[in-house]
Amino acid sequence: MIEKLVKGIHSFQTGYFAKHQGLFEELSTEGQRPEALFVTCSDSRVVPSLITNSAPGDLFIVRNIGNVIPSPDLPGGTAAALQYAVEVLEVQNIIVCGHTQCGAIAALLNPENMEKLQYVRKWLAQAADLRTVIEGRYGHLAPEAKLTAAVEENVLVQLEHLRAYPFVSERLEAGKLRLMGWVFELATGKVFNYDPHQDEFTVLADPDDPDGGGAKPR
Ligand SMILES: [Zn+2]
Repeated sequence: MIEKLVKGIHSFQTGYFAKHQGLFEELSTEGQRPEALFVTCSDSRVVPSLITNSAPGDLFIVRNIGNVIPSPDLPGGTAAALQYAVEVLEVQNIIVCGHTQCGAIAALLNPENMEKLQYVRKWLAQAADLRTVIEGRYGHLAPEAKLTAAVEENVLVQLEHLRAYPFVSERLEAGKLRLMGWVFELATGKVFNYDPHQDEFTVLADPDDPDGGGAKPR
């Protein structure tokens, strides 16, 4: 495995880096000015720069188990990264991106699976309200559909948690910041965006595609 990674480093240096050396020089001398804070799960199957075709310098990324935004009174790595992105880097967009088949959300729905995982259990307790919402609204669904519904609801809950930070809510009110909730569908590569007007997640269409301009529900 490590050998594969080391080979990958050399292949990056002779390939992508050699081709984009100017960009790296610019980033190293002028610093970063990312336009978006991208909050997503630690899951190895979700690769933010790959799924958004982004270049180095484009996305400031926070990853944790279940793409959770903790409460403002619980200082930690995620809150620090959020504050830095908003107050120092002045990102204009925050995207919370969940994903289908998320193990963290599955564990939230079935807490007995994390009985021995005290750190995971404590971290995910921050999203524990979700279980009640899911059982109340989606209790009738089959396990896979219920998990996807929970992944979507979790994204919405985390968008609410973001608004609890004064430096986020102030910028939202001033029109300086935009929040988006996405779900990456592993099996198809599609990304669904929460549309507050329709109160549902619709596929993010290609703005340049004349047939794909309209939002389509899942
Ligand atoms: Zn996950």
